[in-house]
Amino acid sequence: MYFERMEQYGVEQLVFCYDQKSGLKAIIAIHDTTLGPALGGTRMYPYATEEAAVHDVIRLARSMTYKSAAAGLNLGGGKAVIIGNPVTDKSKELFHAFGRFIETLNGRYITAEDVGTTVADMDFIRQKTKFVTGVSPEFGSGGNPSPFTALGVFHGIRAAALEAFGSAELKGKTIAVQGVGSVAYHLCRYLHEAGAKLIVSDVVQANAERAVLEFGAKAVGVDDIYGVECDIFAPCAMGGIINDDTLPLLKAKVVAGAANNQLREEKHGDQLAARGILYAPDYVVNSGGLINVADEWFGYNRERVLSKVEGIYSQLQRIFEISKQQQIPSFRAADRLAEVRIDKHRV
Ligand code: NAD
Repeated sequence: MYFERMEQYGVEQLVFCYDQKSGLKAIIAIHDTTLGPALGGTRMYPYATEEAAVHDVIRLARSMTYKSAAAGLNLGGGKAVIIGNPVTDKSKELFHAFGRFIETLNGRYITAEDVGTTVADMDFIRQKTKFVTGVSPEFGSGGNPSPFTALGVFHGIRAAALEAFGSAELKGKTIAVQGVGSVAYHLCRYLHEAGAKLIVSDVVQANAERAVLEFGAKAVGVDDIYGVECDIFAPCAMGGIINDDTLPLLKAKVVAGAANNQLREEKHGDQLAARGILYAPDYVVNSGGLINVADEWFGYNRERVLSKVEGIYSQLQRIFEISKQQQIPSFRAADRLAEVRIDKHRV
């Protein structure tokens, strides 16, 4: 049954890892290594079933292949899941055991943090394998990736503005930002400095208030952000927020933000295009953090990271071009761009 799933998603390798002593139950999915070793974080989550864990790890690994390919990185896509509760089930022994499994793959898979795992966990993994990034700064990490993600989103928004309004200039543009957390706080700073007017919402009132105080933003209720008068809507909280309920409310001409998996279903990407709303594909716009983490692998160089993050601007221009030439919505154009790059390198 798993081979069928692997065929369906094009997965190269699924590795089931079990360690009796520490209780480790982990699955590593190596989706595609055409462009390089498969890089992707380790998620720790109390999956209800093994089936759910397999489904999640395959889906996540596949999206890493596309994200790395579209970001122009020489890396493939992979991901790992540890079945367990990140609050109660962690131990040094568990991450050591996991590190030993990663080491056996001899560099085909490189891990990093994801939901439920931390820098401290990566440091434990590092004691057993070198195939790990996102470790503590003293071991050569580039630190918190959120500011790099934010910078990439900023460049992505500029590229989208150029496409939608004929100018990348954000001065005077009204931008609605949903969620002002780690990424969007920095994003709001860049947007404010560029002269944009900000409207923000956050379920945590203090986060919205901070943007009001520091960047002169206007705060609105969490359900009101979709319908505000604005030029650009920047989703920076959770996924699935472009859906049947929210799409009819949007007044923006552009959707470009940090959140992963913004389209609840593919049809919502089609519908955005049909309504003339330009969608900047999420995994391209938010790849700054990945670019930063990936650079650690090649020997961290901050200048190189900043230059690659700036490249998100031209990468989006290419995607909008493909979208127009092939008359397909931008989210499909991003997939095309990634697939063409991978196919070119496939032997
Ligand atoms: P975060 O948890 O720091 O920030 C999310 C913010 O959204 C929080 O302030 C939270 O209170 C708020 N929020 C949650 N639900 C909301 C709602 N319904 N309405 C309004 N606000 C809401 O997370 P982050 O690291 O800033 O990441 C933001 C998004 O970007 C996530 O989807 C994440 O997967 C994605 N992303 C982050 C990075 C990164 O480098 N951190 C990289 C790529 C993608």
